[in-house]
Amino acid sequence: MRVRFAPSPTGPLHLGGVRTALFNYLYARKNKGVFILRVEDTDQNRYVEGSEEYIQKALEWAGMVPDEGPNNGGELGPYRQSERKAIYQKYIQKLVDTGAAYYAFDSPEILSKARNEKEEKGETFRYGAHNRMSFHNSLTCSKDTLPTLLKAPYVVRLKVDPKQSITVKDEIRGTIYQEAALLDDKILMKGDGMPTYHFANVVDDYLMQIDTVIRGEEWLPSLPIHQLLYDAFGWKAPKFMHLPLILKPSGKGKLSKRDGDKEGFPVFPLNWNETTRGFKEEGFLAEAFINYLALLGWNSGTEQELFSLSELEQLFSVEGIQKGGARFDFEKAKWINHQYINNKKAEELLEIEVVRQQLKSVDPQKQLHVVQLIKERLFTLNDLTEEIQWLNEPESYDEKTVQKLASKAPGQLLGALSARIEKLSGLENLKAALMTWAKSNDVPVGFMMQSLRISLVGALSGPDLFEICNILGKDLILKRINSAISFFHVNRLFRKFYLYKSSNFLTKTALVTIIGNECSITQTSNW
Ligand code: GLU
Repeated sequence: MRVRFAPSPTGPLHLGGVRTALFNYLYARKNKGVFILRVEDTDQNRYVEGSEEYIQKALEWAGMVPDEGPNNGGELGPYRQSERKAIYQKYIQKLVDTGAAYYAFDSPEILSKARNEKEEKGETFRYGAHNRMSFHNSLTCSKDTLPTLLKAPYVVRLKVDPKQSITVKDEIRGTIYQEAALLDDKILMKGDGMPTYHFANVVDDYLMQIDTVIRGEEWLPSLPIHQLLYDAFGWKAPKFMHLPLILKPSGKGKLSKRDGDKEGFPVFPLNWNETTRGFKEEGFLAEAFINYLALLGWNSGTEQELFSLSELEQLFSVEGIQKGGARFDFEKAKWINHQYINNKKAEELLEIEVVRQQLKSVDPQKQLHVVQLIKERLFTLNDLTEEIQWLNEPESYDEKTVQKLASKAPGQLLGALSARIEKLSGLENLKAALMTWAKSNDVPVGFMMQSLRISLVGALSGPDLFEICNILGKDLILKRINSAISFFHVNRLFRKFYLYKSSNFLTKTALVTIIGNECSITQTSNW
C-alpha cells in the first residue's frame, strides 16, 4: 500500500495542504503502507524559493516524516519532478507514437486571438476535437515539415476522443461521469520541455506504484483527464479520494490567509515571514495541531475528540471522511491545545523552547512550580507571559475591585493581615492560619481573600492564591501588602477630596486640612 503527498513548492504549506498530508500519512500507517513525499516543481513560474524546506520542516514538526522522499530517498525516485525530465520525455514519446497525443505549434498570438473571438461571443474557448484540425499541429501539417517544426519550441497535447463518456470513481463521493466532448485537448508537455501537472502527476503515480491518491477537492475536475491518461497508457488507475474543502469560520467559502489575518488566527503550520504566522509560533503543540486537523473533515463516529497520533493511526478510516466542507473553528483548535498543554507534565513543558523563553526572567528554582500552577490556564503556550504577570509587583489595581473594596476599609484589614503573616515562621500552613484568624476576628473570608489577592496580583483573576503566596515568599507578600495599604490610603484621600469637591465645599484650607489629617494618620512613606 503506497500513498503520496505531492505538494507544489509555490509558497508555505497552508492548512489544507497539511491536512492532505495528514490523511495520506494516517491512511498509510493504518494500512501498514508507505507514505511518500513527492515535490511537484515543474512549474518554474510559480516556484518559490524556500517552500520545499518549509514543507519538509512542517511535516517533521507535525511528526509525519515521509518513508520515501527527496530527503529520505527510496527506490522509485527521484522524488522531485524537476529531476525526472528524461522520464517524462520517454513517456510522452509513447503517447505520440500511439497517436494518443500530438504536437502543436500554434503561436501564443494565434491562440489568444481564437480565445478572444470566442469570449467576445460569451463562449468558452476550447482546443479540442471540434477545432483541432483548423490549428497548426502535427495532425494538420505535412509529414516532411515535421522535423523542422520540432526544432522550435512546441507543446504536446492529449488527443481526446469526443465520443466517449468517461466514468471515474471517487471513494468518498462515488461515481462521476464526464462527457469527453466537453474536455480540452490538454497540454501535456510545455514549450520549455517540462511536463504539465496532469502528465507528470499521472506518470509518477504510476511509476511510484501509488495505490490510492488522496488529495484536495480542488483536483476533482482534473480526474477525468487523469483517467484518460491512464487509459491512453493502458495502465490501471489508482483509487481516488478527494478531501472536502476547509471552510471559513462562517462556513461560507474556502478558508484563506486573509480570513486568518482579519480574525487573528494562523492558517499555516509554521511561520513563513513576518505576516504569515504559524500554529507552532502561535503556541500550539504539534500533537494538538494534528488532533485538530484530523477532525477537519474526519470523525471517528464516537463522541471522542482527543486523539494521539498513534490512536489516529489505528482509528483512521475512509468511511469517517465527510463529503461536505469542514468549517474551521479556531476556538476549538485552542480548546484542544489547552487539553494537551494541561495533560503534559510541567517538566515536559519546560523542555519546550517557547516556554523556556517566556520564563527567562523567572528564578530557575521556581520555574517548575510556576508552570505546574498555571498550565491549566493556558490555551496556547504564548498565554504564559500573560499568565505569569503576578510574578511582578502589580503596576495598577483593578478599578472595579478597588471601588468594591474601598468602602470597607481594606487598609485596616491588610495592616492586620500583614502583622499576622509576619508572625508565621513558614508559609506551609498559611491557608489554615488565615482562615482561623478571619474566623476569630469576625472578618468575612471573601473580603479577606479579595483584599489579599488584589494586593498581590492587582486583580481578582489568576491561579490559586496560596500557591502564589508560596511562590512569592513571605518578604514579597509583605512588601506587596504594604504597597496596597499605601494605595488604599491615597485612594481614601481622593475619595474624600471628590466628596468635598462635589458638594462645593472645597476650599484651599479644607484641602490642606484633609491632606494634613491623612498624612498624620497614615504616616505612609510610600506616597
Ligand atoms: N501538486 C498538486 C498540489 O499542489 C498535487 C495534486 C495531487 O495530489 O494530485 O496540490
